[in-house]
Amino acid sequence: MGSLGPLGRSAALAVLAASGVVAAFATIAPSPDAEILLSRTSSVEALPIPAQALLPSPASYIREERFQRGDTLAALLSRLGITDEQIPKLTQLRALQLLRPGYYVAADVSSEGKLYLLSFLTGRDTLVQIGPAGDRFLASEERAALYTQIAMKSSVIQSSLFAATDAAGIPDSVAMQLADIFGGDVDFHRDLRKGDQFTVLYELHHLAGRPVRAGKVLAAEFVSRGKAYRAVHYGNGYYAPDGSNLRKAFLRSPLEFSRVSSGFGLRMHPIAKAWRAHQGIDYAAPTGTRVRSVGDAVVDYAGPRGGYGNVVILRHHGQYTTVYAHLSRIAVRRGARIGQNDTIGFVGQTGWATGPHLHYEFRIAGQARNPFSVAMPAALPIAAQELAAFRAHAAPLVARLELLANSNLALLE
Ligand SMILES: [Zn+2]
Repeated sequence: MGSLGPLGRSAALAVLAASGVVAAFATIAPSPDAEILLSRTSSVEALPIPAQALLPSPASYIREERFQRGDTLAALLSRLGITDEQIPKLTQLRALQLLRPGYYVAADVSSEGKLYLLSFLTGRDTLVQIGPAGDRFLASEERAALYTQIAMKSSVIQSSLFAATDAAGIPDSVAMQLADIFGGDVDFHRDLRKGDQFTVLYELHHLAGRPVRAGKVLAAEFVSRGKAYRAVHYGNGYYAPDGSNLRKAFLRSPLEFSRVSSGFGLRMHPIAKAWRAHQGIDYAAPTGTRVRSVGDAVVDYAGPRGGYGNVVILRHHGQYTTVYAHLSRIAVRRGARIGQNDTIGFVGQTGWATGPHLHYEFRIAGQARNPFSVAMPAALPIAAQELAAFRAHAAPLVARLELLANSNLALLE
């Protein structure tokens, strides 16, 4: 089966789906074909498979319930309509310990409450199935035959990135990836303005006709204050369509972007004004928000120092140093080597601070500078000998980005 091309794979899948072998859970991995199917999950192309309805056994019905935070197994099994006699046997199964809050559990149950088949998808993309065997229950865990489609979404910022992604039905994991991908060019705590817009193509993994999980962002465009940044995933990183690397030697923001911290950015004063006031930038953020190193560094100082309160000073390559003050807690020791995006501490209000915030300074040769006026050096671009392959990969993705961005603009006009 290893020599099957994409068409052969689709055909094999269609046969599987039509044969009835996999009636109730059409995408269970029942054979060596499973490996082939699974190998498609990171593919760019979608596997064309019709949505599979769950087909109940005669005189039975299928229920689906979400395992809630604070839920018990017994309560969940009861909600699924399983009879009280069977529940104690089931709760002893080790396979059910894999359940986590948020998982959906499906059960095929007779009208008397007898369990025929219980199944759920785990966070590591395996399908756990539990069914009766004599007077016991047996569990199996197999790789789930997920298939992938590309989701294309576009949205305009009104108040925050998360509000915009929520409005467009974009999962949080994709919002976080956007903040990471463009984190060398855009400070998502301070740069966002109403009217900024973005378009994103990302993997959406499906099981049995239903989207179960978002995958990685394949390409994206972010328009910040009229300037468009584009990214295409290639190899292990993200590159602009011309092959330059989006990863910069320094992140724009020392604060981790999260749903909690994101709401604070738009309330800030204009950067230049705030910066002139005291040679640094203040980020209002809740106490405990993660503070990260903006670049690879050695810890030059970590401890209390006067009005700075608990402060970390990092020495980077060249003449660059960065300062992070008023921390509630410090997470690094003097002399330690750390990488970009590593945690150095947490937001607080130690020292001279009227409320919880991060005071951040960017220095070149000991002089405080406004980081937003400094051109940040980038990581290595696509190698010359790989540029043709990269362009061939990027062109259709960029074309889709443009198509979507333009059609959205047309809608707004
Ligand atoms: Zn300050």
